[in-house]
Amino acid sequence: MRIARFTTGEDPTYGLVDGSGEKIAEITGDPLYQRIELTGTVHEVEDVRLLAPVIPRSKVIGIGRNYADHAAEMGGEAPEEPLMFLVPNTAVIGPGDPVVMPPQSAEVHYEGELAVVIGRMCKDVEPEDALGVVFGYTVANDVTARDLQRSDGQWARAKGFDTFCPLGPWIETDLDPGAQHLTTRLDGEVVQDAPTSDMVHGTAELISHASKAFTLLPGDVILTGTPAGVGAVRPGQRVEVEVDGIGTLSNPFVRH
Ligand code: MG
Repeated sequence: MRIARFTTGEDPTYGLVDGSGEKIAEITGDPLYQRIELTGTVHEVEDVRLLAPVIPRSKVIGIGRNYADHAAEMGGEAPEEPLMFLVPNTAVIGPGDPVVMPPQSAEVHYEGELAVVIGRMCKDVEPEDALGVVFGYTVANDVTARDLQRSDGQWARAKGFDTFCPLGPWIETDLDPGAQHLTTRLDGEVVQDAPTSDMVHGTAELISHASKAFTLLPGDVILTGTPAGVGAVRPGQRVEVEVDGIGTLSNPFVRH
């Protein structure tokens, strides 16, 4: 199932998107917490505004340097254990929303990533059980103020500015996270292109690792890391991140 969150100008609503990505069937309530029931109303996707498919209530967990070729371009090796950081939920925006480049940074980078949405409260999950706590998968852009990441040491500000965590276009509940292909385009030009099987630590291992530090709650999001090819965005450019089994997340970048 593809689950989207959207608005027609009223309060945000959830819906099921069909295979063509053209129609969206409204459902009652929040599917993270309630059984899915159709209301009977169907919209054209082009007639609604898609929103971030989930607003994490407690946390977005980022994973650093989880593709060896990206670790190499950053001047190091992939860490032996997954390297985690936290992104505030106020950084989350939806498909089509502008990423606002703050005046504090002269070097804002895209990072296309596969994102995991947690479906139930859990702690100390073993890797063999980890995919069982997943609600679904979506696409993320782990936008990073690269200059501040270097100068701050801690990554909270560099990755946590408002609008720095685009998510969408929807959540796909049926997906093999290790068998997808990730492509990032900057104004239409391919800049990142990698199979998710290139992750150093796979999705199940990341969930397990995170759950041994933090209690995971429904709606928590784990960003699984970015492959090689990160780079700077200029104001006015658009970044599209595509994961083939999910869809394409597209956001314009604007100067504050
Ligand atoms: Mg990242």
